[in-house]
Amino acid sequence: MPVAAEYDRNGEYPWKLVKRAFDIGLLNRSIPVEYGGQGLGVFDSNLVSEELAYACSGINTVLASSLGPTPVMLAGNHEQKKKYLGRICEEPMIAAYCVTEPGTGSDVNGVKTRAERKGDEYVINGQKMWITHGGVANWYFVLARTHPDPKAPASKAFTGFIVEKDTPGLTVGRKEINMGQRASDTRGITFEDVRVPKENVLRGEGAGFKIAMSCFDYTRPGVAAGAVGLAQRALDEAQKYSIERKTFGTSIINHQAVAFMLADMAIGVETARLMWMMSAWEVDQGRRNTYHASIAKALAADVANKCATDAVQIFGGNGFNSDYPVEKLFRDAKIYQIYEGTAQIQRLIISRQLIERLKQI
Ligand SMILES: Cc1cc2nc3c(=O)[nH]c(=O)nc-3n(C[C@H](O)[C@H](O)[C@H](O)COP(=O)(O)OP(=O)(O)OC[C@H]3O[C@@H](n4cnc5c(N)ncnc54)[C@H](O)[C@@H]3O)c2cc1C
Repeated sequence: MPVAAEYDRNGEYPWKLVKRAFDIGLLNRSIPVEYGGQGLGVFDSNLVSEELAYACSGINTVLASSLGPTPVMLAGNHEQKKKYLGRICEEPMIAAYCVTEPGTGSDVNGVKTRAERKGDEYVINGQKMWITHGGVANWYFVLARTHPDPKAPASKAFTGFIVEKDTPGLTVGRKEINMGQRASDTRGITFEDVRVPKENVLRGEGAGFKIAMSCFDYTRPGVAAGAVGLAQRALDEAQKYSIERKTFGTSIINHQAVAFMLADMAIGVETARLMWMMSAWEVDQGRRNTYHASIAKALAADVANKCATDAVQIFGGNGFNSDYPVEKLFRDAKIYQIYEGTAQIQRLIISRQLIERLKQI
């Protein structure tokens, strides 16, 4: 918390904190012990995420770093896990998840990056965009189109690869200047005749789309936990300020309009927390949690944005200024409604799940 504002201002990658988190066991929390991780369940790992995001959700995005290794955890064979999960557990290193492209995000079926089999290798060409940890990752999960038929269904069209950062032809773009979570490193990545050994294919040709999508059941509860951490911080800051700040001869918390804003923030925080906990618990039990993970992600992201907006309101003019903490919360909150599936895409998933359930009755 004491360094959050500084990293937000200068946009520097918090390597010092990554190293410290690694030393005290806060990185690679869900990677199995067998491969050098902490072996925590999604629920336990997310308890840490909520607390870290309370201090700085940008730094939490750096330290959670769960989306990169998840495809390998879910779909990697023993050798791939040993090599690539083992590597990031041995030293403070990060992996990244490369699916989005300049021309497509929500519509993953629109991915154009291609990989062609040439002997014992695949040759990848294309461009990825908005990749978290893009400039600092040691290796990437990359989704590329492998089916020769451009009309092939998503379930057959794509393959997932593990690609090492220093492979010739892989170029990392500039660090993007984002509205919030500025400690996190977001970049575009270009692949020009990048050669990847066939051993780095996850599960098999055509399995990529399913792998890429199934990760979200594991990671969306964590995104929701981060959003709840931010929302709780907004509530605490606003509550403290509303006792200190006086207008019309009394603390502003004594004006019902302000007190009710705080009450609504508390309702949001408590319910969104229960939702991330439920969806995390479900996946830890080995149950399908897609429905609750999307509800948790959509709800917590909206709650974070509402809480941050209302916190700025309660701070009045001070809330609009970067000397006070809520302006940063306001900027940081927005991304929760965008990455790992937008607010609209979560609703699409939830509504499809409702239709599925109806069919089963
Ligand atoms: C800071 C940051 C970090 C990111 N990190 C990663 C990462 O590590 N790896 C990665 O692969 N990607 C990453 N992303 C990409 C992110 O997942 C996408 O930006 C997101 O999925 C939305 O895609 P898009 O930007 O192409 O928007 P679009 O898909 O073009 O959507 C634009 C708007 O249309 C809406 N929309 C689209 N389709 C529908 C529909 N069917 N129904 C209703 N509304 C719809 C969307 O909700 C949105 O409001 C990151 C993005 C950012 C900004």
